[in-house]
Amino acid sequence: GAALPTAPSIPSAPVTSAVLDRLRAIVGDKGLIVDEQDKLPFVTDWRGTLAGQAAAIVRPAITAEVSAVVKLCYDNGIAIVPQGGNTGLMGGATPWPMHRGIVLSLGRMNQVLNIDPVGYAMTVEAGCILETLQDTAARHDRLFPLSLGAQGSCMIGGNLSTNAGGVQVLRYGNARNLVLGLEVVLANGDIWDGLRALKKDNTGYDLKHLFMGAEGTLGIITKAVLKLWPAPKDVCTAWLAIRDPKAAIDLLSEAHAASDDNVGSCELISRACTDMVLRHIPGTQDPLKAETEWYLLLEWSSARPRQDGGTGMSDRMEQFLADQLEAGRVLDAVIAQTEAQSRNMWRIRESVAEASRTEGPGLSYDVSVAVSRIPEFIASGFEAVLAILPAIRPYPLGHIGDGNVHFSFMGPKGMDLGTLSQYSAAITRAVNDLVTSMGGSISAEHGIGIEKLDELQHYRSRTELDIMRTIKRALDPKNIMNPGKVLRLG
Ligand code: FAD
Repeated sequence: GAALPTAPSIPSAPVTSAVLDRLRAIVGDKGLIVDEQDKLPFVTDWRGTLAGQAAAIVRPAITAEVSAVVKLCYDNGIAIVPQGGNTGLMGGATPWPMHRGIVLSLGRMNQVLNIDPVGYAMTVEAGCILETLQDTAARHDRLFPLSLGAQGSCMIGGNLSTNAGGVQVLRYGNARNLVLGLEVVLANGDIWDGLRALKKDNTGYDLKHLFMGAEGTLGIITKAVLKLWPAPKDVCTAWLAIRDPKAAIDLLSEAHAASDDNVGSCELISRACTDMVLRHIPGTQDPLKAETEWYLLLEWSSARPRQDGGTGMSDRMEQFLADQLEAGRVLDAVIAQTEAQSRNMWRIRESVAEASRTEGPGLSYDVSVAVSRIPEFIASGFEAVLAILPAIRPYPLGHIGDGNVHFSFMGPKGMDLGTLSQYSAAITRAVNDLVTSMGGSISAEHGIGIEKLDELQHYRSRTELDIMRTIKRALDPKNIMNPGKVLRLG
């Protein structure tokens, strides 16, 4: 819902018919989309609020083709927007409206190249769908823990490029922590082979970390070696009505020991979000009728199967919830007794973004503060935003174990996007000023893309921006890699 930043200057070399012929020679007819209608899904963002353009969508099938395409673009100064599943929420994968270059889609590079259950690693191509990788690991009795609402369509290359977070960061870390090695095509078409499956490798700068979270501005990730974990065998999912956010973080701080260090997820969900999902997503059911403004989705899991007669996750959870009820933090709770009940709880959590697309225009801020300061942030944030637009409707939720709040609002009933946009600059400033004053981050897990271009510039120090620009200029001297995203070059 926020207004677009003013357009930065980006390379404008056109894709001439001679270049188009050479692209076709590299990727074949199957790898090239030029029809206007067929290009649409690649130049529009997931929320349907941004629309750009591209001369062609280029879909290479192997790294050598990516390299040849990028080299051709480099020689001709043609801008490239790398794209995975196109589910990013900051506009990083959407070309600017004045983009005259290509979108390079990784979707055809979708092979799992190697799985090493003993070494707890798998080597994959960048266009693999996240859910496919989870399933592949599970078939080998392993876990690939990255998990988020878009997992049925986002791709691992996109996940790594946005350093995605999701619902299991608390235990396994964000995407950056799930990687051993990378293969990357650099802006001049060179291939960097860093596809090492090593846990220990202190040989100079750790280059892979430059490309993760870079949102395609430094190079194109083509392959990755991912870490695996033991598959969970004893999982307990519970839906809790809680007193308030403070109760949630106090509860979480005790849950680690009570679960024997087995907390997998801890998701704070407002009643407003829950009701919105129940309204718009068919088949979802309210897990608990309770008088509260806040719920918590809590999941504990252990790789050790529950032994007959022994205590498992659900026994421990029951005891824990009884204690928390007594302490007044939990008002009511239900433990999923079946796979279907657990799936329903997760579906509610993971459908919030989808439901909000249907609900109407809104504003959303993906921010983080220290976990212990979440209650203070939520209270002060509401106050600041409601002071600007009193009828705005808060729809907060968050990965609270990571200090990450999706501080979202739906516009006042009946207000159209245009009117809401008139307030967005003031609200954005108020939220981000508050986050910054609390030592937090203006983008916890979604990145910068187009949407937060000016915000990054405003809130990061000159020193930090200078370092980022120096790296960008060194790796992409012609500014062809996703130009006009993340950083303004000045
Ligand atoms: P895209 O959207 O295609 O691209 C994202 C960025 O990466 C762009 O800048 C693009 O240029 C770049 N890029 C893509 N592939 C490559 C590559 N191979 N090499 C270099 N650059 C590349 N995010 C979270 O962190 N946590 C969540 O819980 C979460 N939940 C979500 C729920 C829903 C319903 C949706 C729609 C999104 C959610 N997201 C979440 C946003 C999240 O960032 C993306 O879903 C995902 O990580 C992006 O993957 P993608 O393949 O769709 O990337």
